Amino acid sequence: MNRNCLFCKIAAREIAGDIVYEDDDVLAFNDISPQAPTHVLIIPKRHVATVNDVADGDAGVFGKLVLCARSIAQLRGIATSGYRLIFNCNADGGQTIYHVHLHLLGGRQLRALG
Ligand code: AMP
Ligand code: ZN
Repeated sequence: MNRNCLFCKIAAREIAGDIVYEDDDVLAFNDISPQAPTHVLIIPKRHVATVNDVADGDAGVFGKLVLCARSIAQLRGIATSGYRLIFNCNADGGQTIYHVHLHLLGGRQLRALG
């Protein structure tokens, strides 16, 4: 756990989060400032700051992030209508919280990128 990390504190239950899924490796919670009707953040419980810091040995847990997103999309009824999965990395990517998180966005038509 990184003592200065907001998402580590949510995982440790030191700060309240609107948690929607949890297992030994992964935590999912609703974004506090949702950009779509479904906006869930899915994180590895172990602190990893950015996608640049993902190690070869992390493939399993990062695969689980996608599987978790898929399951939540199915539960929310947006699997067929569609959704977007995003990792923002560093400043140009728009990352503001430096604990890797996968955004799951759906429930409305999302604008095309670019
Ligand atoms: P990013 O810009 O990719 O780093 O995304 C950070 C996300 O974390 C933003 O969508 C914020 O709305 C969200 N966020 C910030 N603080 C919290 C919090 N306490 N609980 C849930 N989501 C948060
Ligand atoms: Zn962290």
